[in-house]
Amino acid sequence: MKRVVIIGGGISGLATAYSLREHQELTSADNGEDFEILLIESKPRVGGNISTEKKEGFIIEGGPDCFISEKPWALALCRRVGLTGELLVTNDKLRKTFVLSRGKLHVLPEGVILMVPTKMLPLAFSSLISLGGKIRMGLEYFIPKKRGTEDETLGSFVRRRLGAEALDKIAEPLVAGIHAGDPETMSVRASFPKFVQMEAEHGSLIKGMIKRMASMKKRHKAPAAPASGGSTAKTPGKITMFMTLKGGMSTLIDKIAEIVLSTPNTRIWCSADVGSLTRIDSGYRVGMADGSTVEADAVVIAAPAHAASRLTAGIDPELSEKLKSIPYVSTATISIAYKKSDIKHPMNGFGFVVPRSEKRKIMASTWTSIKFSGRAPDGSVLIRCFVGGSKNMELVDLSDSEMIELVRTELGDIMGITAEPVIARVFRFKNAMPQYTVGHEERVEWIDQRVEATPGLYLTGSAYHGIGIADSIRYGEITAKKVLHRIRS
Ligand SMILES: Cc1cc2nc3c(=O)[nH]c(=O)nc-3n(C[C@H](O)[C@H](O)[C@H](O)COP(=O)(O)OP(=O)(O)OC[C@H]3O[C@@H](n4cnc5c(N)ncnc54)[C@H](O)[C@@H]3O)c2cc1C
Repeated sequence: MKRVVIIGGGISGLATAYSLREHQELTSADNGEDFEILLIESKPRVGGNISTEKKEGFIIEGGPDCFISEKPWALALCRRVGLTGELLVTNDKLRKTFVLSRGKLHVLPEGVILMVPTKMLPLAFSSLISLGGKIRMGLEYFIPKKRGTEDETLGSFVRRRLGAEALDKIAEPLVAGIHAGDPETMSVRASFPKFVQMEAEHGSLIKGMIKRMASMKKRHKAPAAPASGGSTAKTPGKITMFMTLKGGMSTLIDKIAEIVLSTPNTRIWCSADVGSLTRIDSGYRVGMADGSTVEADAVVIAAPAHAASRLTAGIDPELSEKLKSIPYVSTATISIAYKKSDIKHPMNGFGFVVPRSEKRKIMASTWTSIKFSGRAPDGSVLIRCFVGGSKNMELVDLSDSEMIELVRTELGDIMGITAEPVIARVFRFKNAMPQYTVGHEERVEWIDQRVEATPGLYLTGSAYHGIGIADSIRYGEITAKKVLHRIRS
């Protein structure tokens, strides 16, 4: 029987395994009998960055707390694995983001989507942006599109289209909150291809964004949701831009692992580190860190690019070098809970982001129990702060108590919180966030071609074609199709 080995049990590896079995079921009568899947994960549990901790009535996300619904692959997978009733929308009545500016929280003007204003009135009355900055942002509508198609940094793109203040107070902090990245090195084409496309097609981001919002509204006109925001298997339910699962993002991981393991000839090894890959006549020899080996007809590396670089060093040194050139940054999340009665701040939004120019240690803060229902017991609030990223990477090495102290000081200054927390949890993500720097698309195209020419070897994961969960699932599904084609040929 042929064997597929998947290295890495994050959402990318799991989505690949699930999709392999799903396609196999659709296309084969023998239901799991014609090839074996072995998924190998170095940590004691699968999920990679995705981990949910349930403690004293709190649902605490270590890494991702949601997925984007506009990219349909995560939502579709949740539905396919039977989690429709578990879907949870954001509390959009309170959907407001604040930006720290000159030490105070200001509302991000309503209608600003990522960095593009789509409503002029809220922008005009905003206390966040100066009059000159507002005029400059509005002028975006009239600024001619760029000639040529060469890549540029996000910083240069935003300055060119929307002005320096929009970059400092809106784009940079919002992007740091998502990518933990530096706009002066990030590739706009690889990180925000939609914006580049909008400029090319509509001549303006404002025009393009307004058109996009109108078409999204049409698409998302769905029957009213049940009170919880969930839905039954028969009704599509309400959809918000960001979605999660009632029991936390790990629900998806557990469900995929359960389904995959229930199919014949599928195994998951945890606490099993892959140390090397060697080519042999029939495919590959997978060398485990403990010295044992496994043979495989096809190998999918669903581990981060730096791990893929180490594993491919003996097979293709040039490929290995190229993989090494994809930079990663480290981040940490600190979830901290308080008695509601101890908090004077109105917490009337989803949280705040912090521009670099404010010289703070936290990059962003999500007011978790406001953003999603059911994250904290009655009478409590749950807040999550992000530290590290490209600007403050060394902070990730602080001890738990130092990191909690740092967050308490910052929340004290910014939100006036001085109370003792009832819970505080720290999660570190070392070299976990790939950075799509200028030239990323060319790098990845080179990598794709090289891998294509290496029979039986596949790469998948957030380092290549999209950093979020939805893109990771999409790419895992594409990879599964390629593997199945080879296994069957
Ligand atoms: C703090 C944080 C918050 C985030 N928030 C969001 C969010 O809200 N929404 C969103 O869409 N995305 C978010 N992301 C991004 C999201 O986490 C990724 O898109 C996604 O988890 C990537 O999954 P992956 O499987 O490609 O990689 P990973 O999750 O990194 O999984 C790779 C796995 O490979 C394993 N591995 C590595 N080397 C080996 C080896 N040699 N042998 C065996 N196993 C190995 C690792 O242990 C790991 O489990 C966030 C990321 C971070 C760090």
